[in-house]
Amino acid sequence: MILLPHLLIGAAIGFKIHNAWAVFALSLVSHFIADKIPHWDYIDEQIGDMNKKEFMAFLYKAAADAGIGGVLLLILLWQQNAWPYAIFGAAISILPDFLIFLRKFFPKTKWLFSYQKLHNSNHLDKKPGGKILFPLISELLITAIAIFFLL
Ligand SMILES: [Zn+2]
Repeated sequence: MILLPHLLIGAAIGFKIHNAWAVFALSLVSHFIADKIPHWDYIDEQIGDMNKKEFMAFLYKAAADAGIGGVLLLILLWQQNAWPYAIFGAAISILPDFLIFLRKFFPKTKWLFSYQKLHNSNHLDKKPGGKILFPLISELLITAIAIFFLL
């Protein structure tokens, strides 16, 4: 799943639950549950083997994805007392994908490779460049539900 729904799910968890350990655990688990839902994704499984041009294209997409999430969170959490928990939840919810990103810089690190295999096998439906209408609708729906909990 792209970063935007993950960010908003984690933020909604932090927004509702004001306990750092619970927010940490639930946001982390939410990532793997959200990845089980059919979705469209641009994160290539071969990130470690991307050439410079492919990696830059990936970085632009990730920056736009996270940037939209960041702006949305700024708007939604503006003047909300629970914002530290919400931001913490958002950060933890994208940690599993950040570890995939680290593969680019540490391609020979075995545990990162094992983790990437585990993370990728957790996806129910992940077809970069495949049919995107239904998977995109599912991601938009999840994002909308998370926003509902942040209002
Ligand atoms: Zn993921």
